[in-house]
Amino acid sequence: MKKGKLVIVIGVPGVGKTTVINSALEYCKENKIEVEYVNYGDIMFEEAKKIVSNRDEIRKLSVEKQKSLQLNAANRIVEITKEKNVLLDTHMFIRTENGYMSGIPIWVAEKLMPDSIVLIEASPEEISKRRKKDSGIRIREEDTPEKINEHQLMGRAGAASLAILTGCTILILENREGHYKEVGKTIASLFMR
Ligand code: ATP
Ligand code: AMP
Ligand code: MG
Repeated sequence: MKKGKLVIVIGVPGVGKTTVINSALEYCKENKIEVEYVNYGDIMFEEAKKIVSNRDEIRKLSVEKQKSLQLNAANRIVEITKEKNVLLDTHMFIRTENGYMSGIPIWVAEKLMPDSIVLIEASPEEISKRRKKDSGIRIREEDTPEKINEHQLMGRAGAASLAILTGCTILILENREGHYKEVGKTIASLFMR
């Protein structure tokens, strides 16, 4: 049985998910609310590091392999959600070499049963700039604004499907330049009511 709340944060690569989540965790700490941070990619990478050298290579693996890593990670995450409030940092759709792959297919959704999904969005220009800024540490695609928009639209469509399947609520938050703390505060408030 799930004891805590599960809030899933999604958004295209480089939009600022990890940044706003860190801010949310600070607010939770200040308000003495215990929330566990779980990064889906970290858990997949723990298993995948025998075959890839960095986390950005996971999405280049065969779809079959990615789905197997994804399912194993879901089984681990579900155990954490049984005990604690969890903020899960992940993706609604992963751009693979075969096209978009769901980050939360039905067999994962049924295990996780999230309370809320938070979509982090920004303008394609801001996202491109953020991806370039991190180019030394992360390997993110240099997409056209149209491709970034398409990926963000897929995120909304996926969130809507997830809400229908699980009954979770959806929050859409704009992560404007320099305003990540406000976004973090709004995410943290989901654990306060
Ligand atoms: P990924 O999916 O690849 O893990 P992400 O969505 O977690 O990406 P972050 O790593 O949090 O993205 O952020 C990408 C870059 O954008 C970082 O350099 C971060 O400092 C910067 N950034 C995030 N939010 C903002 C903001 N509101 N204003 C300015 N810079 C930001
Ligand atoms: P991140 O640091 O959030 O970009 O995660 C690293 C990588 O892990 C992503 O680029 C994806 O390849 C993979 N990943 C993260 N979440 C999922 C998920 N829910 N399903 C499949 N792959 C995922
Ligand atoms: Mg991240």
